[in-house]
Amino acid sequence: MSEKHVGGGCLWPMWGHSETPNHEYCGAKRQEGQSYCAEHYARSIRNPEEETQTFVPRKIAA
Ligand SMILES: [Zn+2]
Repeated sequence: MSEKHVGGGCLWPMWGHSETPNHEYCGAKRQEGQSYCAEHYARSIRNPEEETQTFVPRKIAA
């Protein structure tokens, strides 16, 4: 077995959706059997798109 693990840490990508991947990952302690730490695991199941969306300020309704 030769899985690619980043130091056994959380594999949540830290770069933005529109940015060039720099392969920096969260690196926090992973949940057992998961690829993410507790925080990012929760986010990954709650809203996978949340972290990949570019931040756009809301338009203020006139
Ligand atoms: Zn994480």
